[in-house]
Amino acid sequence: MMPSKPPVFENARAKPYPRHCGECKTVAVEPAYIPYTANVKHDNEMHQIVIPHLHVDRCGKCQEIFFTNVTDEQITSALRMQLGLLHPDEMLAGLARQGMTERAFAESLGVAPENVARWLSGENVQSSAVDRRMRLCLATPLAREATSAGPRMLASIAGSESTMQS
Ligand SMILES: [Zn+2]
Repeated sequence: MMPSKPPVFENARAKPYPRHCGECKTVAVEPAYIPYTANVKHDNEMHQIVIPHLHVDRCGKCQEIFFTNVTDEQITSALRMQLGLLHPDEMLAGLARQGMTERAFAESLGVAPENVARWLSGENVQSSAVDRRMRLCLATPLAREATSAGPRMLASIAGSESTMQS
């Protein structure tokens, strides 16, 4: 087993710990990490996702386990990783790089802006077909050419400057 520290997730929820347990009615629910295998349906196929440290809420008294929105986000994130689908951060970075608005992104994908909003928030996971279209949309051949030409130009300028200096 690899020694691994459980990942730290932001507590997106407002309620402080310890929380009230719906099972035994004790205020003893604390965050915990458990090994978990999730079966998630995506693109009409079931996928098994092994998560060594799933962030859950667990009652210290009756040991009941509760999934939270953080748990869901972690499972969704692991699914994206396993299937090689773009993460919301990658989409946002791509949009910023292209100077593209969410609305323009939705139009070029041929979907409703609400769908894009749900993908960007991590609430929904795009299908493999949409993911391919996203990648085409966010690919930056022009920007790449510009950056590959950029350093060369800079290098030649720097080169001539250093020649002048020496
Ligand atoms: Zn309990």
